[in-house]
Amino acid sequence: MPWYRGSTHCHTNESDGDSSPETVIAYHKDSGYNFLVHTDHNLVLDISRFRHLETPEFILIAGEEVTDFADGKPVHINALNPSGVIRPRSGDTVSEAIVRDIAAIEETGALAHVNHPNFYYAITSEDLLAVPGVRMIEMWSGHPEVHNEGDPSQGLPSAEQIWDAVLSKGRRVLGVAVDDAHHFKQMGKEWANPGRGWIVVRAEALSTEKIIAAIAAGDFYASTGVSLKDLQITDSSIFVDVQTAGADTYLIEFVSDGKVASSLSGTQARFELPQNAVYGRVRVTSSDGAQCWTQAVFGQGPTKQMP
Ligand SMILES: [Zn+2]
Ligand SMILES: [Zn+2]
Repeated sequence: MPWYRGSTHCHTNESDGDSSPETVIAYHKDSGYNFLVHTDHNLVLDISRFRHLETPEFILIAGEEVTDFADGKPVHINALNPSGVIRPRSGDTVSEAIVRDIAAIEETGALAHVNHPNFYYAITSEDLLAVPGVRMIEMWSGHPEVHNEGDPSQGLPSAEQIWDAVLSKGRRVLGVAVDDAHHFKQMGKEWANPGRGWIVVRAEALSTEKIIAAIAAGDFYASTGVSLKDLQITDSSIFVDVQTAGADTYLIEFVSDGKVASSLSGTQARFELPQNAVYGRVRVTSSDGAQCWTQAVFGQGPTKQMP
């Protein structure tokens, strides 16, 4: 089945982006993306206005960044392919707002991903674990103000470590990489530029229905530049075949229960989930610093001691 590269988080000047929808579409179309989900703050862009810009290799999908606030903290959750505008529902706590906003999103038939947990360090792994309905989170963001890497000096985990903390409890949460692009005019690390993080989805065809179904099924990987030629995930193993693209070496790591369980330098690897592990996932890092991340496989977890 073919792979399709797409962005699930971007902004236009219909909310707080710096460029028109046409400019944002042109950037993604010209940069090898196959689909683009517009996620302006608290509005759903009418993509029927831009259907003439679609091609057999590039489609537009409706979306919204449900932009909420609870307990003095920002709670932002993306809706992929909602049937209409979603109003944030807030709540007394961050977890309550996540519950209520995911419910609002799913009532429109859309998929929800919880965004940038470390923006104002608003959303902790405990908050996410308190919400059984969390199915997908941003485990990597290229936005410069969302503390993607956390703050080790303060004991604050990276977004990827937050994902690990949730997976470690056996929660089947999918991870997406995004750039949360707002700025298409000025380029630089202080700007939220496009082209930094995306997902690559394996789907039967390039259509909204097939792409959304494949994302919901977890048949995708997240990337900041490393591509896979092949990815095979069974109940207890992951095989990756890395597409080489200029970097000298590729480090392939199997992350299990929050730490690197095994690794090798090369372009192909197959990992079996260790006995008693809760989960395992693969991360590939090129010598250029680009990465990709597969979704996780799950085991039974540690054998419980009888009382
Ligand atoms: Zn946001
Ligand atoms: Zn955003």
